[in-house]
Amino acid sequence: MSSLLQPEDRVLATLNPDGSRRWINPKLITGRFWRRRRLLGWFLIVIFVALPHIRVGGRQWVFLDFLHREFTLLGKTFFPTDTLMLAIAMIGIFVLIFFITAIFGRVWCGWACPQTVYLDFVFRPIDRALGFAKGGKGKLASMPLRVRRVIRWGVYLVVSFFLANTFLAYFVGSRELQEWIVGSPMDHIAGFIFVLLVTGMMLFNFLFFREQLCTIACPYGRLQSVMLDGSSLIVGYDKKRGEPRGRARRSTKGGDVRLKVVKVEEAQGDCVDCGLCVAVCPTGIDIRDGLQLECVHCAACIDACHSVMTKIGREPGLIRYSSQRALETRSWRMLRPRMVLYPVVLLVLAVAMVALVGDKGTFDALLVREKGLPFNVLESGQVANQARLRLTNRTPEARSYEVSGEDGLTLVVDEGTLGAQPRQTVSERVLILAEPGFFAGTRGRRDVELTVVDDQGSERHVRYRMFGPTGG
Ligand code: SF4
Ligand code: SF4
Repeated sequence: MSSLLQPEDRVLATLNPDGSRRWINPKLITGRFWRRRRLLGWFLIVIFVALPHIRVGGRQWVFLDFLHREFTLLGKTFFPTDTLMLAIAMIGIFVLIFFITAIFGRVWCGWACPQTVYLDFVFRPIDRALGFAKGGKGKLASMPLRVRRVIRWGVYLVVSFFLANTFLAYFVGSRELQEWIVGSPMDHIAGFIFVLLVTGMMLFNFLFFREQLCTIACPYGRLQSVMLDGSSLIVGYDKKRGEPRGRARRSTKGGDVRLKVVKVEEAQGDCVDCGLCVAVCPTGIDIRDGLQLECVHCAACIDACHSVMTKIGREPGLIRYSSQRALETRSWRMLRPRMVLYPVVLLVLAVAMVALVGDKGTFDALLVREKGLPFNVLESGQVANQARLRLTNRTPEARSYEVSGEDGLTLVVDEGTLGAQPRQTVSERVLILAEPGFFAGTRGRRDVELTVVDDQGSERHVRYRMFGPTGG
């Protein structure tokens, strides 16, 4: 007997009582939801692989160019000067996640998360073909174990390397990446190391870590308790219908558990305790124990139980998409405070975003005060304020700019002319000179407006507070 203290209850589905890893090897069940998930999964994989190669107007449609600090999303380019827009977009994404989760539960985890999609529809099929997962048969599965191991590592490596390169294309651009692929790794050593790192992380994740990413590492999974409420959609077991459980006979063949319902008595609940819903679960839990953090809502147990209910001639839906409230009280409440609050917040953010996007012209202009004295009085009597004008050219062509002020102001630009290359940000020192008497009747400060015009006639107005002698 082990000298270790035995836990009173199961701690983690992926741990044995002695603390060693319990490898989960779910049985494949090809029901209605599995077929739909597979269709969506492959659609998402195609999107992920194709997206960095889609170009509109000569530009990559989705391009997260950290090096040049430009982010192109669905053809729209954002610059570091768009901090407010990016902040609103980030807040919007978080609120949207909360909103979707409040309605549909962990639909993301089971249906669209890359971890689930790649594990269930890329890597597990490889394992099945090679006989490393339940349901594996065919020529490959009957080869010697050592050969199968080598093939498995090789295939995992190739797939992970391909995915790592696709991932990199989002950050360096697909054309740049193509040049890197045909060139020497020494010409782009940082990118090469990045690809190797991502490949290594993917190998570790899909070969070893697997469902543990969802059950112990993913922050989204751990936030479920605050995102869900009693009326959120969950995968649930209908205890009222299922209990008390009946009996099913189990037989084991070739390490695989075969389940056969042998006797169903009328007085029993609908669950025949066949264990199929547990055998198919990719996180190794028993959904009959209630809603659990480990449940990624993949609906495999629904498909499994559906097949059992059909076999014994009972109504399907003993495990189904439902809500905690509906399972307990047979009622469902659509109108809840969060159902109103989240859409209102989203609407406000959407309006702010539209207003900001509409306000963006062909360039951004920002005027900030330079370090040093707030103002100087020149020999000519003019009052000088030093500022720095930062211009961001948002267009794909080079542009030049002119800056002017209101009456009584003269502007002197360090470089004489202002110009910016496509999507470039330039910063120039500007001397704002005010005529003597400009500050008459003020308390030594006056708000002015400068106008910046590009060579295509687009203009932007920037406000600036000038300092000068008090009283005049
Ligand atoms: S309990 Fe059911 S829905 Fe949840 S992870 Fe397991 S099989 Fe998927
Ligand atoms: S698959 Fe259905 S019948 Fe079988 S143990 Fe699970 S809930 Fe019970």
